[in-house]
Amino acid sequence: MEVRIESSRLLAWKAAMLKDAKKPFTKEAAMAKLSASEAATFASHQAIQILGGMGYVTDMPAERHYRDARITEIYEGTSEIQKLVIAGQLLKEYITN
Ligand SMILES: Cc1cc2nc3c(=O)[nH]c(=O)nc-3n(C[C@H](O)[C@H](O)[C@H](O)COP(=O)(O)OP(=O)(O)OC[C@H]3O[C@@H](n4cnc5c(N)ncnc54)[C@H](O)[C@@H]3O)c2cc1C
Repeated sequence: MEVRIESSRLLAWKAAMLKDAKKPFTKEAAMAKLSASEAATFASHQAIQILGGMGYVTDMPAERHYRDARITEIYEGTSEIQKLVIAGQLLKEYITN
């Protein structure tokens, strides 16, 4: 869980650094969004598993964290669309280099 969260944080910082430097950051931003969404879903899924039934019931916060994480793979550009953006940018890099 920590590896995925920290990896996503570094990807987000890289995209932010490129934006601050007024350099292209489309691919890096899409990679950060994809990675962070999947890390959040993975970590909240694990949290429910660790807590067992108490993680699943709506009286406790873990299931809400899972739903809040899961939606990030859908809104603001679904994971599939992030992959299309990343692939498009890679092809552009391949053609121009
Ligand atoms: C709680 C919530 C809040 C939201 N808030 C906002 C908001 O504030 N502002 C706003 O504008 N919108 C908002 N949305 C809408 C959200 O952006 C869309 O749900 C999202 O863009 C996905 O569109 P869709 O639901 O029509 O799914 P669809 O476009 O029907 O996609 C269904 C599935 O097919 C996949 N798919 C679609 N096209 C492709 C493709 N070309 N290649 C591969 N896979 C593909 C998708 O990745 C997805 O898995 C919100 C949605 C929810 C659920």
